[in-house]
Amino acid sequence: MAATGGKQIKSVLIVGGGTAGWLAACHLAKKLNSKDPDGVQVTLVESPNIPTIGVGEGTVPAIRRSLQYLGISESEFIQACDVSFKQSIKFQDWLFNPDDRRHAYHHVFDYPVQNGCDLTPYYLMGLAGDDSYVNTVSVQGGLCDAGYGPKTMTHREYEGVVSYAYHLDAAKFAAFLTKHATEKLGVIHQLADVETVTLGDGGMIASIETPQLGTMTADLYVDCTGFRSLLLGDTVGVPFVDKSDILFVDTALAVQIPYGDEKAVPCHTIATAKEAGWIWDIGLLNRRGTGYVYSSAHTSHDAAEQVLRTYARETLGDQADDLTLRRIPMKVGYRQKFWEKNCVAIGLSQGFVEPLEATGLLIFDATARMIAEQFPATLEAMPALADRFNARVTHTWEKVIEFIKLHYVLSRRTDSDFWIDNRRPETIPAALQQNLEIWRHQPPTAYDFSSRLEVFNLENYLYVLYGMDFQTNMAPLKARYSMDQEAAATMQAIKGHRQQLAGQLLPHRELLMRAQ
Ligand code: FAD
Repeated sequence: MAATGGKQIKSVLIVGGGTAGWLAACHLAKKLNSKDPDGVQVTLVESPNIPTIGVGEGTVPAIRRSLQYLGISESEFIQACDVSFKQSIKFQDWLFNPDDRRHAYHHVFDYPVQNGCDLTPYYLMGLAGDDSYVNTVSVQGGLCDAGYGPKTMTHREYEGVVSYAYHLDAAKFAAFLTKHATEKLGVIHQLADVETVTLGDGGMIASIETPQLGTMTADLYVDCTGFRSLLLGDTVGVPFVDKSDILFVDTALAVQIPYGDEKAVPCHTIATAKEAGWIWDIGLLNRRGTGYVYSSAHTSHDAAEQVLRTYARETLGDQADDLTLRRIPMKVGYRQKFWEKNCVAIGLSQGFVEPLEATGLLIFDATARMIAEQFPATLEAMPALADRFNARVTHTWEKVIEFIKLHYVLSRRTDSDFWIDNRRPETIPAALQQNLEIWRHQPPTAYDFSSRLEVFNLENYLYVLYGMDFQTNMAPLKARYSMDQEAAATMQAIKGHRQQLAGQLLPHRELLMRAQ
């Protein structure tokens, strides 16, 4: 079939300069060769008056691949963005009422060790004794608890003895990406307030109007305006699909906390469950970023503030009473479509769920790369690509929602309506219910995950399910697993490897100080 022509897409206008806007700018400019006069021109316009959301400090390992691909030096990034390393999320008090029994587990980033012998069934059959799941199958939980960083000073950039991601200062990260995009990748940066978005033929965006720069036009518009979704939501009119019937957390109280007497910088995010949500605690080199995300239907803002101050008091004492907290309302869900006509949304304008597994930057980075890789050459090529993009990204959001919900469904807390309501069957997606039904009778396998593009896979589910003491009935399956000796030897080898690594690695703070 002969190729058809159509108007070429030569320019992209990104509205919004938060981390989503700048990640999108970097991916598009890199792939579309914006430095070259024959490449696609990428312009980012952001308001000098509307601040970015200013939170979003946790990432997942995929960010390493992206930063490296974008040509960013890891050491420059670490120095510019007050970065610390992240090897895990440590979940505290998610399983039991904390007054009855304390509980914690790690969702680490390293794959469970296999060496030809899948240890999970043997762990479930009791071969590991009292060891936790994570310590049975991986060295990483132990390294986190002992306070080690994930790499030595001699490792190459983006490489470590175990997988890792970063904690970072969100505002500094946006500024760092701005510099990289404009100086190295050819992105044009403009400051202006978008007051009007004008639709033209067939509902396509024709232009945007700004008081500072007048009318601006492009072939494709990228909405990175945050929760407001000025282009895709407000103007193009794509509805928001609310998911607060599944995930109840809808408000954040955020605060930056100075270090008290504690010297260690945790190499993991700490997520501590509370009566109507949970508190995140992220240690950067010079301060902690902390916040309580909670369900406003299950607690009052005043009570939430008290919960966060009490938490801060544990390390800060009375100074915690002077902290200035910032309340952020959150829209839980995603747009019915993410790409409609000549408008694509990346960032909070696309969707959002509570930051329990640091999914924001992950999805925005992945979808920005997806658009860049499949960028339409002509307007004619756009509708089919948009349809495919919409289907894939909807699937991504659905799967992320299931994974976040899993953390609540596995809890046995009964100390508040928040925890009880979270386990009501009508709030649990059908696909998650079906998975749990299957996994009651056999451990998860890779066949339970249908798409390479799913952001949470087998290993993520294993760490959360068995970290939360999920019960799989292994009794009828025993005959399938006869490699006890190999499994026991592998478990022993993991312990030995952990001890050996502890002798090579630096305490996390020391590693960060040396990286400065
Ligand atoms: P914003 O940062 O809100 O940026 C919007 C941009 O649009 C700004 O530049 C603004 O000036 C511009 N703009 C708006 N209106 C106009 C206009 N009319 N004209 C011109 N410009 C305009 N993600 C993670 O990955 N990990 C985390 O740990 C994490 N924690 C989070 C915690 C909380 C409480 C919340 C709410 C979010 C968290 N996120 C996290 C998500 C993360 O904050 C976002 O993914 C990220 O900051 C991207 O935001 P954004 O760029 O879409 O929007």
